[in-house]
Amino acid sequence: MGASIIDGKAFAATVREKVATHVARLKADHGITPGLAVVLVGEDPASEVYVRNKGKQTIEVGMNSYEHKLDATTGQEDLLALIDKLNNDPAVHGILCQLPLPDHLDEDLVINAIAPEKDVDGFHISNVGLLGTGQKSMVPCTPLGCLMMLRDHLGSLSGMNAVVIGRSNIVGKPMANLLLKDSCTVTIAHSRTKDIEALCRGADIVVAAVGRPEMVNGDWIREGATVIDVGINRIPAPEKGEGKMKLVGDVDFASAAAKAGAITPVPGGVGPMTIACLLANTVTACSRANGLEEPEGLTA
Ligand code: NDP
Repeated sequence: MGASIIDGKAFAATVREKVATHVARLKADHGITPGLAVVLVGEDPASEVYVRNKGKQTIEVGMNSYEHKLDATTGQEDLLALIDKLNNDPAVHGILCQLPLPDHLDEDLVINAIAPEKDVDGFHISNVGLLGTGQKSMVPCTPLGCLMMLRDHLGSLSGMNAVVIGRSNIVGKPMANLLLKDSCTVTIAHSRTKDIEALCRGADIVVAAVGRPEMVNGDWIREGATVIDVGINRIPAPEKGEGKMKLVGDVDFASAAAKAGAITPVPGGVGPMTIACLLANTVTACSRANGLEEPEGLTA
């Protein structure tokens, strides 16, 4: 039997609706409009597209969007001064500094200069520590989106065997911590792991966050398992014409879908959830900052 497709695009729309409902309530009941500040240094074309999409979706759910575009030559002190200003601005509830930063800037220093309660990317060392110790934190957007889809599809994750392939700070490690918090038995695999295939075959949940096109195939997947494909890889698509490219995940969709119980496609799976979760984190940060009830179903 073929897998059911977990539609990230549709799910992201429901997350945005929930965010919009909570924003409307904050405005009507408390006169508060959540605000998200996005800082972009330099002119990386991919980052500019992300920032534009973030700004557009922020406004669509009724929040204020503050974009700060800085010259590629901006110095560390000037960037830190802007972050300090945003940290102290009561109209700003979330701050995101678009990565990667130009080489002359110290990414760790900049991320850790953001006030942890406004760190909607969840990359600040305090938030990493809080998540690692199972406490309330700001959670990185991509793994939060994966968790929401898994909970929606499977209900309780308690007792399930989960394999996370990839140990990056932005996806693999926080994903593993979130699954552990939901009482999964978690294995983290990486480039030195022996016999990943066998590990995956024992998993109820496989999350692939590797950056290797279609590495995970159907032979690795246990019958009925749930497969979350985080990968976004651009590869040549000669079938579409000379020089054409297409997006694929870290999972070979066709063979994995023949074995899995459920699977996220690429595109249209995890990708759309990431910005939706950024909006969710911003409304959560705003609610916490004002001592108000957090939106239901939008946090870890
Ligand atoms: P990183 O490059 O930071 O990490 C990749 C991880 O995969 C590393 O831990 C690495 O192991 C591991 N790895 C590499 N090769 C192998 C292999 N052959 N076998 C097993 N493990 C391997 O990537 P990210 O975590 O940032 O991103 C992963 C993927 O997710 C990318 O395709 C990226 O584009 C995508 N992504 C998608 C997002 C979305 O919104 N959907 C958001 C963020 C990322 P080691 O540590 O040993 O080197």
